Amino acid sequence: MPDVVDLRSDTLTRPTPPMRQAMASAEVGDDVYGEDPTVNRLQDEVAERFGREAALFVPSGVMANQIGIKVLAPAGTEVVLEADAHIVAFESGASAMSSGVQFFTTRAPRGILTAALVEESLRPASFPYTQTSLVAVEQTTNRHGGTIYPLEELRAIRELADARGLAVYMDGARIFNAAVGSGVSVADYAATVDMVSFCVSKALGAPVGSLIVGDAATIEQAHGWRHRFGGAMRQVGVLAAAGLYALEHHVERLVDDHANARFIAEVVAGEHPDAVDPDAVETNIVYIDTGATAAAELVDKLADDGIRVGSMGPSVLRLVTHLDVDEAGCRRAAETLARLL
Ligand SMILES: *Cc1c(COP(=O)(O)O)cnc(C)c1O
Repeated sequence: MPDVVDLRSDTLTRPTPPMRQAMASAEVGDDVYGEDPTVNRLQDEVAERFGREAALFVPSGVMANQIGIKVLAPAGTEVVLEADAHIVAFESGASAMSSGVQFFTTRAPRGILTAALVEESLRPASFPYTQTSLVAVEQTTNRHGGTIYPLEELRAIRELADARGLAVYMDGARIFNAAVGSGVSVADYAATVDMVSFCVSKALGAPVGSLIVGDAATIEQAHGWRHRFGGAMRQVGVLAAAGLYALEHHVERLVDDHANARFIAEVVAGEHPDAVDPDAVETNIVYIDTGATAAAELVDKLADDGIRVGSMGPSVLRLVTHLDVDEAGCRRAAETLARLL
């Protein structure tokens, strides 16, 4: 039985031996008292990298997003999002429940909202009923193949939001993939939004955690909501240490994940040009159109060969590269997939 190549998600990474070492030797304290030195170091390091005043460590990306919406969108207002956004599709209606907001969703090519699409989605300022409060963008787009939001588009959305008195939130779960893929710094992206979150638990390879970044007053409010949402933790420096390790050692290497994703797309496209466009693979996510073959059937056949992939709908496969799969594994996955398609 060959080794399993698991391309279902970049959340599957397991902490490496040196990361575990960093976790085991982390200095800790009670973070609810603000006394965990490793958490404080992670938050300071992240705030600095993002060029913002403050950052907050939270248990998950979903909680980060829910805190962002709670802080930036008053109850009874409307949030503009792309229809396939994680916040819309994968968070179980949390924003309706926890923040009492409603969503105005719009479809955008490759999941990238433009300022023009946002403008069409806003309630007129003079409208006496529902009012828009917030625009939320996703960097990179999860359901649209890891596409990078161009900095210019983010700046145009920021300009529109300022003119209309709106806040902008970035679900930056994979913002480091965007930064490495585009060469734009996370600070330049962060400068276009009121608050940005990102996961250390995805391609960065830490086992747990996300951070929220913004100005000091915003993060202070976020801190209060983290507590109310049950996300305040105690000697959590053992987890923050993994995040610090990931930021130091696992950011530059994302180029390898991107190269592997592109390689998979090229191998598959070499035999099945209609299945995937390699040029559309900008980061670590590959979507494959399975045509007439049922995606679920391919998932099972690939699993028999030790290749695990995800499906999104009846004729789409989703492959995500990460720290725990190497080039040889990706080659095996791509060749097997090309043969089975
Ligand atoms: C994974 C993901 C999240 C949620 O992160 P969890 O840590 O799994 O809660 C949020 N947004 C996007 C775009 C994601 O891909």
